Amino acid sequence: MEKIQMVDLKSQYNKIKTEIDSAISDVINSTAFINGDKVKEFSKNLSAYMGVKHTIPCGNGTDALQIALMALDLKPNDEIIVPAFTFIASAEVIGLLGFKPVMVDVDYNSFNATAKNIEQAITSNTKAIIPVHLFGQGAEMEAIMNIAKKYDLYVIEDNAQAIGADYKFSDGRKQKLGTIGHIGCTSFFPSKNLGCYGDGGAIFTNDDAIAEKIRMICNHGMKVRYHHEVLGVNSRLDTIQAAVLDIKLKHLDAYCKARYDAAQKYSYTLRDIKELITPEESAFSTHVYHQYTLKVLNGKRDALRDYLEANGISAMVYYPIPLNKQEAFMKIASQAGDMSISDKLSDEVLSLPIHTELDFKTIHYITSKIREFFSK
Ligand SMILES: *Cc1c(COP(=O)(O)O)cnc(C)c1O
Repeated sequence: MEKIQMVDLKSQYNKIKTEIDSAISDVINSTAFINGDKVKEFSKNLSAYMGVKHTIPCGNGTDALQIALMALDLKPNDEIIVPAFTFIASAEVIGLLGFKPVMVDVDYNSFNATAKNIEQAITSNTKAIIPVHLFGQGAEMEAIMNIAKKYDLYVIEDNAQAIGADYKFSDGRKQKLGTIGHIGCTSFFPSKNLGCYGDGGAIFTNDDAIAEKIRMICNHGMKVRYHHEVLGVNSRLDTIQAAVLDIKLKHLDAYCKARYDAAQKYSYTLRDIKELITPEESAFSTHVYHQYTLKVLNGKRDALRDYLEANGISAMVYYPIPLNKQEAFMKIASQAGDMSISDKLSDEVLSLPIHTELDFKTIHYITSKIREFFSK
């Protein structure tokens, strides 16, 4: 039997192959590899899908976060609050630009930074908050936006893992995650929920002035060619990637639904195993299951992972070391409060294969092996 991988991009491609191949070949024939029409078309379609005024495409999700921070007129050593339990990119860009990452602990059930931990981390130097919607589910944005308003802070959402998910406000209003903060960032890395066939990213905002600044920064700090008003970067989504994404965007809701259905099947089948905690869905956000992440109790995580590997099933630890323990941050970051939950999660989490083509038969095989492990 072939090994069961975390994602299956090939089967997904096969279903839309004709359309994708012809769109790519159209770009090649046009030779408009950079800033071709498809880049504008896709950005417009993505804005409509997200319900946001501006979508600025860029080179990747890490660039998106860096450019967002560059657009805010921050000063060296300004503090930016970020969860300790996330992918490094969320915090890396803070340090790279000479700002100070202030780490906060996360909630055990949702894996996301809580508004309470964020508020406790605020000092007179705090300028921004980067909430991360980890694994496909939103952080508590309504409370976070209220805090940001109270202390006059910017909010940059790291939405690399939750594109397509809706946030539900207490008055019943719904809004796409990534469009609630002052700026939202996403990644089109191939395995993300909306992935291209290389690197790509985008920045969202409803603020006209911020959008103009971001466009300028993405393009070497110029509005008029060869007139450089600020220092910028070169970060673009290339036309071939935009052509791929424009096709995949039409399937995004169906892709999210397929992931959601797979997750429900996993959770139902594993619900009675006492040494496992299946993902909890919060009341205020839909879940698009970028990852399906279990908590494995009693120190059995690594043994379960090895057992699955031995049975031809990939399983991954996202993330084995929280940011508060990463060497790169030792000298430049600070921690607000203790990071005990991030530490605990990094010992317990295990993500199972989840993707748009995962069938119930495969899920059944995976869950039967998990059951077998715990019955020994
Ligand atoms: C993938 C990811 C990023 C970075 O995206 P790239 O396109 O790989 O640069 C940032 N933050 C989070 C939470 C991610 O999962």
